[in-house]
Order: sequence, then structure tokens, then C-alpha cells
Amino acid sequence: MNARLPDLETLADRITAGERRALARAITLIESTRPADRATATALLQRLAGGGRQALRIGLSGTPGVGKSTFIEAFGMMLIEAGLKVAVLAVDPSSARTGGSILGDKTRMERLSRAPGAFIRPSPSLSHLGGVSRRTREAVALVEAAGFDVVLIETVGVGQSETMVAEMSDLFILLLAPAGGDELQGVKRGIMETADVILINKADGDLKPTATRTCADYAGALRLLRKRPEDPEDFPKALMVSAVTGTGLPEAWSEMQALASWRKENSHWDRRRADQARGWFETEVRAGLLARLTEDQATRAAMDRLSDAVAGGELSASQAAADILDSLGAGISDG
Ligand code: GDP
Repeated sequence: MNARLPDLETLADRITAGERRALARAITLIESTRPADRATATALLQRLAGGGRQALRIGLSGTPGVGKSTFIEAFGMMLIEAGLKVAVLAVDPSSARTGGSILGDKTRMERLSRAPGAFIRPSPSLSHLGGVSRRTREAVALVEAAGFDVVLIETVGVGQSETMVAEMSDLFILLLAPAGGDELQGVKRGIMETADVILINKADGDLKPTATRTCADYAGALRLLRKRPEDPEDFPKALMVSAVTGTGLPEAWSEMQALASWRKENSHWDRRRADQARGWFETEVRAGLLARLTEDQATRAAMDRLSDAVAGGELSASQAAADILDSLGAGISDG
């Protein structure tokens, strides 16, 4: 166990009591790749599991510059003022390439970061998507255990990160900027289908007319999508907001709440969470198996041998894969 950490029971108690420092420490623990820390992190999460606390998990995606931090600051402050506790977690897989965390910029969300009811955690740098995914899921579990009411999981609309965030959220929000009709084509259909609410930000000043048009375009596009059984009649929907003036934020929040309540009443909520938990379990097993393949020296050597044989045409890829999986299977049953 990490010497800087209090014992597990104390740490768990402090998290349950909503202590932000304990929460920050615990997130540092789950971000650690040291095997001993991993074991402690797993034990901590198990201790906190089943506490029955649920936060509304809101995934929020948008390209850089669309106004995510401005939105989160204004939206988060609105929720804080309504007496809610708000956590913000950032997912930034691009930091794995740049080595710096774009979403970790300290100057972002200044008011929110000082609010007593808020907890903001930037994305750790230099982690691969799998690591980011695990870290974020576990951080969500921790902030829920700490009694936060709403957790905003923010991501830049890059590659698989959007899908990953959508898969760990109760609601998924896509933030867009006002733009011409061509821009509509630029939003991937898959993301349109995943979004529960599309928010056209910057609906203020000179941009208001363009925002109105953009919003109508998206509302039209959403109507053409296949209806999802977990949605009431009028969802998914497109709305206009201004993160700067605050216009539309209360309406956006009441739409999110309406959708969440509807899903709860119609048991889609629990089913979605149960499916997500099953998916997480399978992901962990898969990651664990892959880790065995790459971490265990003997297995690694066998992998390399088989890989060479496949490259040399002596062995089919299917046979080589079957061989390695068989040897791994023997390892598992041996204990
Ligand atoms: P992020 O990269 O998505 O986090 O975007 P930021 O929140 O940093 O905002 C990018 C720029 O857009 C900044 O200059 C903001 O001031 C501006 N911006 C954000 N929200 C609004 C808005 O509602 N209206 C207007 N006019 N500008 C906005």
C-alpha cells in the first residue's frame, strides 16, 4: 500500500463523508499503474460498491472551441446554486499523443473549481484509451460513493473517446457551435444517434440567427433518426443555449431531468446501468487477459515465437491464436 495513503477503511470512510481531498487521493490511486496500487484501488472500489448512491452521469462531447469549459462552468454553477453537488471528470485521449492534458488547463472553470460543492478532475496525461476508460469509470464510481448528485464526463470529440463516454453515461449531450448547413454533414451519424440532447451553444449576439438555423437543421435531422425504445416521443432533441449569457441553461437542465425521470419510470435506467456494468466487467477481463499476454515473460516469448511463425507462413494466424489461448487457459486453471 502506498505509504502516503491512510488505511483503506479510513480512506473509504472519508470518501463516503464526501471529503474532496480523500476523493482526489483515491483518484490518484486508481490512476496509478503500480501493481500494489492497483490491488489497493480494487479493494477500495469493492469496499465502496453497493453503497446505493447514484449520481446523474452526464456525458458531454464537443470539439475544441465549441464552449465546453464555458458551458460546464455556467451549467455547473447553476446546479451548485440549486444545492446540488457537481463533479467534473475530463477524458482527453489526445493527451496521450501530445503528452499534455488539454482539458487539464488550470485556468478553466475558475468559479466552479472554487465552489465548495464542486469537484473537478482533469484528465491524466500519457495514458492510452483503455487506461483512460478504466480510470474514468472508476472515478465515476468514486464520486458517486462520495455523494455527488451530478457527474459531468467531458470529452473532446475525437475518435473513440465519444463512444466510450457515451457508454458510461446515463445521458449523452453533444455540444455544437452555430454553423452553416455543410457542418451538419460533419457530425458523424453514430454520434447523432448516441446523443440524447444536442445543444447549439453560442446562441447569443450576432450568432443568434445562425444558431437558430443550426438548431432547426439538427432538430430536422434528429426527427429522421430511428426512434429508440428508451426515449419518450420527443427525444432526442436539439436546443439552443448560451454558456456566456446563461440563456437556455435551465431549459436544457429540465429536459435532461425529464429524460432521466422517464427512463427511470420505464426501467430503462436500471437496465442501461446493468448493461454498462456487464460491459465494464467484460472489458476488465479482456484487458486482464491482454495484460497476461504482454506482461508474463514466458507467454510474451511464446507470442513472439508464434508471431514469427505466422509472419514466416509456417503457421496460420488462427492456429497460432488458438495455441496461445490454449496455453493461457492452462495458466488460468493452474491457478
Ligand atoms: P472548449 O474548448 O470547448 O472548452 O471551449 P471554451 O469554453 O474554451 O470556449 C471557446 C471560446 O468560445 C471562448 O472564447 C469562449 O469565450 C467562447 N464561448 C463559449 N461559450 C460561448 C457562448 O455561449 N457564446 C459566445 N458568444 N461565445 C462563447
